[in-house]
Amino acid sequence: MWNFDSPRIVFGESALDVLEELQGERALIVTDPTMVELGLVDRVKAYLDNADIEVHIFADVEPDPAVPTVLRGAEVAQEVEPDWIIAVGGGSPIDAAKAIWVLYENPDIEPAAISPVMDLELRKKARMIAIPTTSGTGSEATFGIVLTDPEEQRKMGLGHRENLVDIAIVDPEMAAGMPPRLTADTGLDALTHAVEGYTCTWRNDLTDGLCLSAVRLIFRYLPRAVADGSDMEARERMHNAATCAGLGFGNAMAAMAHAMGHALGGVFHLPHGRAVALFLPYTIEFVASEEPERFAELAAFIGCSSEGGKEAARELANSIRDLMREVGSPVSVAETGIERGAYEAQLDKLMDDAFNDTQMLTTVRAPSDEELRQLFLYAYEGRPVDF
Ligand SMILES: [Zn+2]
Repeated sequence: MWNFDSPRIVFGESALDVLEELQGERALIVTDPTMVELGLVDRVKAYLDNADIEVHIFADVEPDPAVPTVLRGAEVAQEVEPDWIIAVGGGSPIDAAKAIWVLYENPDIEPAAISPVMDLELRKKARMIAIPTTSGTGSEATFGIVLTDPEEQRKMGLGHRENLVDIAIVDPEMAAGMPPRLTADTGLDALTHAVEGYTCTWRNDLTDGLCLSAVRLIFRYLPRAVADGSDMEARERMHNAATCAGLGFGNAMAAMAHAMGHALGGVFHLPHGRAVALFLPYTIEFVASEEPERFAELAAFIGCSSEGGKEAARELANSIRDLMREVGSPVSVAETGIERGAYEAQLDKLMDDAFNDTQMLTTVRAPSDEELRQLFLYAYEGRPVDF
């Protein structure tokens, strides 16, 4: 048995208009201070005012939201008693809002315990909407929640199918203000979701098309969105691509580039998308020796190779490197500015963390200790993987 879950997705120009159709009394907007400063929260609030919904705002979500933050947000929810919880922001506010929603409906649950195997019975008090303001994490279309445990300095992957949002509002105007660096980092995260969703062991017939479509959109439109943030066609297609990739990998899985990127980001604090994309070409080269045709299909679909087999996988990896260079992103760990000595000193921890990451379970070719060490070293130097 397999599931495919999706929220209602309202997308494209004027997608925010759907807010005026909402029925309810009170909404709690979960967001971060930047969204308030940029006026994006006010924009959402104006629609809710028109719908006669009273608006409360919890704007304390930090990047990589920590458990105490969602506990505070849940307290606010208990006071406000919203019937809508509305996340406005990138992956951090959306993930925090999902956790706040779960805790609001289930006050006795510990955030770290939110897992697919429990009974949540959500929607007795509220329903949830996500309005992404970046084009990358896909959190509006997945049930995943990433929270940080500040005591142990580790990230926890949580979530339950029920905490998939009710409505995702994918309005390109909400992402139009992203600076180029953030556009590139989040867009490359979406690319990694799509490639890994298409090539991991949990891929399936329902997700393949979404992943392929997302990869093609990202190759076409990410360079334009980075070069000219006011190119609204590129913004819209990237916003759609990120949600497609979210639905794709969210109903399949990601894989080893995410495991290695999480490990690197945890120790050296790189943005998520930059860290996971960095490892993508290397993991493609490594995994493709096990299953070259899958990568060849993907390469043929985006038109970067007419070859079959491993040669096509290599061309795909190189096309991804070219795309990363074009949007100003590092293609080796050295290029991120991390000193070789500091990196090698952390190599054992990086390997441990990557091996313990759930995304490592879905790689088609599982590395040995020595192979993973070599992968981290090749990625440091930027050497294509040939083993
Ligand atoms: Zn990701």
